[in-house]
Amino acid sequence: MDMFQLTRARDVADAVRAAAAARTAQQGADIRYLAGGTTLVDLMKLNVERPRHVIDISRLPLDRIEATADGGLRIGAMVRNADLAQDPRVKRDYQVLSQALLAGASAQLRNMATTGGNLLQRTRCVYFRDTAQPCNKREPGTGCSAIGGFNRTQAILGTSEHCIASNPSDMNVALMALQAGITIQGSGGERSVPIGDFYTLPGDTPQREHVLEPGDLITAVTLPAPAAGTRSVYLKLRDRASYEFALASAAVVLGMRDGKATHVRVALGGVGTRPWRSLEAEAVLLGNPPDDATLRRAGEAALADARPQPGNAFKVELSKRCLAQAVRLAVAADDAAAG
Ligand SMILES: Cc1cc2nc3c(=O)[nH]c(=O)nc-3n(C[C@H](O)[C@H](O)[C@H](O)COP(=O)(O)OP(=O)(O)OC[C@H]3O[C@@H](n4cnc5c(N)ncnc54)[C@H](O)[C@@H]3O)c2cc1C
Ligand code: SF4
Repeated sequence: MDMFQLTRARDVADAVRAAAAARTAQQGADIRYLAGGTTLVDLMKLNVERPRHVIDISRLPLDRIEATADGGLRIGAMVRNADLAQDPRVKRDYQVLSQALLAGASAQLRNMATTGGNLLQRTRCVYFRDTAQPCNKREPGTGCSAIGGFNRTQAILGTSEHCIASNPSDMNVALMALQAGITIQGSGGERSVPIGDFYTLPGDTPQREHVLEPGDLITAVTLPAPAAGTRSVYLKLRDRASYEFALASAAVVLGMRDGKATHVRVALGGVGTRPWRSLEAEAVLLGNPPDDATLRRAGEAALADARPQPGNAFKVELSKRCLAQAVRLAVAADDAAAG
């Protein structure tokens, strides 16, 4: 591995100033922030990332979970995944987020992994992680080995002819359904980006995954107040029960009255090139009883634009069933809460 310089950021301004000198904040960045290190250090060991300067942000005072004036939560970027999953307010009001976090990785990894780092974790595409293989995301213009190669775990929504890599995060799927905001401190000041606008599609620039620019430091994730009377569920389907990424997952936030859905948010994991909010499924579910026929139509709507490869065509049906079952679980949680 190349030698790199490691410095510890003294405060947020210090970190942003140092990182603003980077050429890019995307793949191949020459300056990188280090949070829990569970993505970055792995990729540095594999030579997939080779920053010449690493800025340790782990001591920045961004590790608090605070109530906001509008009844929501502000989660500091350095809050560990384990702490966030077990926070009593998250377990009570944002069950989908707690469940998604606990479905991810292992207890040891969750103790290290941070909220900011999880937002920016990279694809698990095997070709991306193997520098002997062509990969447009790692080396633009070299080709995509997964198209026509091993593509069982790749995306079926939002793909392009240049990249079909799936976004592997569980947390991000829940945040999509919760309509989280991402607070970013850059050299030009602070801004907030809705998570729905944060991730880019691969198109012909798969090396670009999000809207961050050099120097941009994620300082917090904000959650709006939970919609009154809603229940939420995260369901993850995978090859084994723990320590495995999703083949398909679904995050559902649901409110019911008189047997009909009055509030619906749906996001899918394991199938999109970014965490995938499905407005189409929400439109089918809203105002209707969540019976089998409606759930089937919701799944059809969510996956209508799927472009599977031979190795991952099974994900189309799997994702539909995952969504249907997640809604059923949310209805059951609503029934249980009603007494
Ligand atoms: C074996 C294994 C299994 C896993 N299984 C799962 C799973 O099932 N589900 C799942 O969702 N995840 C899984 N993960 C991924 C894990 O959740 C992520 O690696 C972790 O969340 C990343 O957080 P981190 O703090 O360690 O990030 P780091 O590795 O420190 O950083 C990741 C990236 O984010 C950047 N960054 C970090 N913080 C900030 C910030 N505040 N502002 C701007 N940039 C920042 C870094 O520069 C880097 O590019 C797994 C990981 C491993 C190693
Ligand atoms: S799917 Fe994307 S990350 Fe995987 S080989 Fe193709 S270009 Fe690279």
